[in-house]
Amino acid sequence: MKSAISLVTELMAVPGKSREEGQIVSRISDKLRKAGIPKSAIRIDRANKRIPGGGEVGNLIVKLPGTMRQPRRLLMAHVDTVPLCVGCRPIRDGEFIRSANSETALGGDNRAGASVLLHTACTIVREGLPHPPLTFFWPVQEEIGLLGARYAKPRDLGSPKLCFNWDGGAPNVAVIGATGDYDIQIVIEGIASHAGAHPEDGVSAIAIAAAATNDLVENGWHGLIRKGRNEGTSNIGVINGGEATNVVTPRLTLRAEARSHNPRFRKRIVNEFEKAFKRAVRKTTNAAGQRGQLLFSADLKYESFQLKPSEPCVQAAVEAVEAEELAAETRVCNGGLDANWLNEHSLPTVTLGCGQAGIHTNSEVLHIESFLQACRIALRLATCRH
Ligand SMILES: [Zn+2]
Repeated sequence: MKSAISLVTELMAVPGKSREEGQIVSRISDKLRKAGIPKSAIRIDRANKRIPGGGEVGNLIVKLPGTMRQPRRLLMAHVDTVPLCVGCRPIRDGEFIRSANSETALGGDNRAGASVLLHTACTIVREGLPHPPLTFFWPVQEEIGLLGARYAKPRDLGSPKLCFNWDGGAPNVAVIGATGDYDIQIVIEGIASHAGAHPEDGVSAIAIAAAATNDLVENGWHGLIRKGRNEGTSNIGVINGGEATNVVTPRLTLRAEARSHNPRFRKRIVNEFEKAFKRAVRKTTNAAGQRGQLLFSADLKYESFQLKPSEPCVQAAVEAVEAEELAAETRVCNGGLDANWLNEHSLPTVTLGCGQAGIHTNSEVLHIESFLQACRIALRLATCRH
């Protein structure tokens, strides 16, 4: 297992923020080739050509034929990191690995997961372990909206029956559900006028935004939302506009989000947002009775999912965790995962932890023992009989 530690240390040092994964993808490919995996089994898909905004490379996909006649299994972990990880210098510090460069994060999110897969693939091939048909899937661009997984073609993954994703902390925790999320874009067009000479001729986009926001807050549609049995969250996170204090502000752009595990309720939150902004536009007029305008749109970033405890990948994950003498826990989370998109592609996927802690900050560390446990769990899931 010393090799797993040096592997993750090496991969964390390779820069590879979202959209710039070329170097890390070729490093992983080289290691697979050196372990004896034929070039023909390794491919990089064209997801980057389909993703709006592009990217250096597509997803890395490795397919191995089975030595046992069983349904195909898929192991996955995103390869990109947040930009804060670029320039990191991983060093060992007791039970942890951290970055010697205090200006950076570490990139255990998600080079830990990427290394779990790489270690598993190399171990199987080097030691000639019997295994079912396997797909190793390293998607790109997770951190900027789960894009690699979203734009992957399910057909390229070889129709796996059991899918496992590594991204997170505790190796014994299996995430079996996650929320869904809308990205809301709002443009308010008011009417400009001189704020000193003729403020009454203007329609302030800021006044409209304030009225709408207040409406949402007062009526319980902003922040944590609880309506009867339904729950969700929303947040207006970005407001841009205004250039001078002597101009009644004619234009604002806002971005917000709405989350709920319940797709219908999530849509309802978006509708309440639209209604609140429409009301605010209607009641904000200038002296001549003129009004501003609203442009409102919402895009689904990812759909929610929830797997049953009886789902084969959940059962397999729980068994593998318990075989490592850890207490298995299942959880549903309020963030998005690549697993959301795998599930949308009709590939039920459970997500396991791999030792990450303090992610996306410059105090990020990797807990070595948890990472090694994740490696053992992954090897078991890739080779055991089910
Ligand atoms: Zn991650």
